[in-house]
Amino acid sequence: MDLFVLDLEERPWAAYAACRDADPDMFFSAAEPGVAAAIRICNGCPVQGECLEWALETRVRYGVWGGTTERDRRRMLRRSA
Ligand code: SF4
Repeated sequence: MDLFVLDLEERPWAAYAACRDADPDMFFSAAEPGVAAAIRICNGCPVQGECLEWALETRVRYGVWGGTTERDRRRMLRRSA
C-alpha cells in the first residue's frame, strides 16, 4: 500500500505491513464489507501493534489502522483519558 511505504522514516515498521499491496480504498471505505476486509488483513499483519500505537499517538482520524476503525480508536482514546 503506497500510503504506508511513502514515509518509512516516520514509520519504519510499514515496510512489513500486510496491506502494502492491498487496495487503499478498502482501508478508507465507508462500507462495512470494505472495513471488514481491511480488518481481516490487519489481523494477520506482523506489525499490527506498531500500527495501532502510531494511529493512537498521532490521532489519525480516518481509515482502518492496526485493525481498528475511527470509532474504535476514539473509544480507546476516551477510555485512556
Ligand atoms: S495493521 Fe493493518 S493498516 Fe496497519 S500496517 Fe498492518 S495491515 Fe496495514
